[in-house]
Amino acid sequence: MKSAVGTCVVTNGTLIDGTGAEPIADGALVITDGTIHYAGPQGNCPPVPDDVLRIDASGGTILPGLVEAHFHPTYFNVAALEDLDIKYPVEYVTLLAAANARLALECGYTAARSGGSLFNIDVWLKKAIEKDITSGPRLAASGREICGVGGLMDWNPDFRKIGMEGLVLLINGPDEARSAVRKLVKDGVEWVKTYPTGDAAAPDVNDHHTLCMTYEEMHAVVQTAHNHGLKVTGHCRATEGIKNALLAGYDALEHGTFIDDETLDLLLERDVPVVPALYFELASVENGPELGMPQAVIDGHQETLEGGAESARRILAAGGRLGMGGDYGFAWNPHGDYAKELEFFVNYVGLKPLEVLKCATKTGAEIMGRGDDLGTLEPGKLGDVLIVNGDVLNNIGILQDRSKFLAVMQGGVVKAGRLSQPA
Ligand SMILES: [Zn+2]
Repeated sequence: MKSAVGTCVVTNGTLIDGTGAEPIADGALVITDGTIHYAGPQGNCPPVPDDVLRIDASGGTILPGLVEAHFHPTYFNVAALEDLDIKYPVEYVTLLAAANARLALECGYTAARSGGSLFNIDVWLKKAIEKDITSGPRLAASGREICGVGGLMDWNPDFRKIGMEGLVLLINGPDEARSAVRKLVKDGVEWVKTYPTGDAAAPDVNDHHTLCMTYEEMHAVVQTAHNHGLKVTGHCRATEGIKNALLAGYDALEHGTFIDDETLDLLLERDVPVVPALYFELASVENGPELGMPQAVIDGHQETLEGGAESARRILAAGGRLGMGGDYGFAWNPHGDYAKELEFFVNYVGLKPLEVLKCATKTGAEIMGRGDDLGTLEPGKLGDVLIVNGDVLNNIGILQDRSKFLAVMQGGVVKAGRLSQPA
């Protein structure tokens, strides 16, 4: 991905740097050759030549580009899970994934961490974005997901006569877990996504006690992945599954829904970040009846929603880290709605807007393993910036309104927003 050459100065906006620090009312940002040179009060801004690109953010907010920490570029807004592996060939899903990535960038998401992909599409999407062949967030790829036979992602019964080749590597025992990770090593992923527990969405594995992988399998995944420099995360709802993941050495947790005191202590001890992805649950509860979801599934989503919100509050209050990512790509939770997660965490979970923005920027970049060059507006970091016309802290909901985006920048280049359109 090319960075801008030359200098860009953004002035007159409220500057939120993503570290959780209080906003600066009259903020300025200077980006030189794609890297942030200055971020702070306008009064202290170093002098810059006259002939540079100037962006007036009057009445607006200057913040780091958002990070979607649980992104499924290949989930094409499916209404039924089985559509993921039977509806379209991989060629078409690849095109859909490219469109989803472009949309995410237009929505202000300059970086994203994959939470699992059909085939290896996210690995190649990442390469195409880096080469400016197509546009999208800077990606951390995960490729196919790993799940135990009979677990959450093994949803096709034998009579359907199809497997889950595109989406999941199904394993039985630690040896198969190791060989699945080794396959992924060759594919070029950075994250290994696993399914240690069940979920309210899947009737066969629906209660929150269900374990879909054993501790031995999870430990084998971690050992093999770490040996190859890969990180491991997992879909963890049941308390026992969360505990197993933390003891096995997982690097992050998806959802982290039902925690108890012991798992919270383990989580904090290892400083493992959690991506709750909770708006999905509210959307499932609200849209479930119309979509024909069984009442037991809707009740399960409600229980997950309440348990997940409580856990998220506890984790953050205790000094833990949360990433904002939303599992978008379902009919009731489509691509493009990414920032609904942020408003949900303010209005439903009760976090402060500034806290949520830190989770959606700094922590997201840390989860990607790119905390040193992304996620905050600080000198030395890449010029990945979102400039919004309006007061984001007063109304975080405006992050869902792309018509209010002045600029979405990557490496100082305006990639989307009003200023990206030809005059
Ligand atoms: Zn997911």
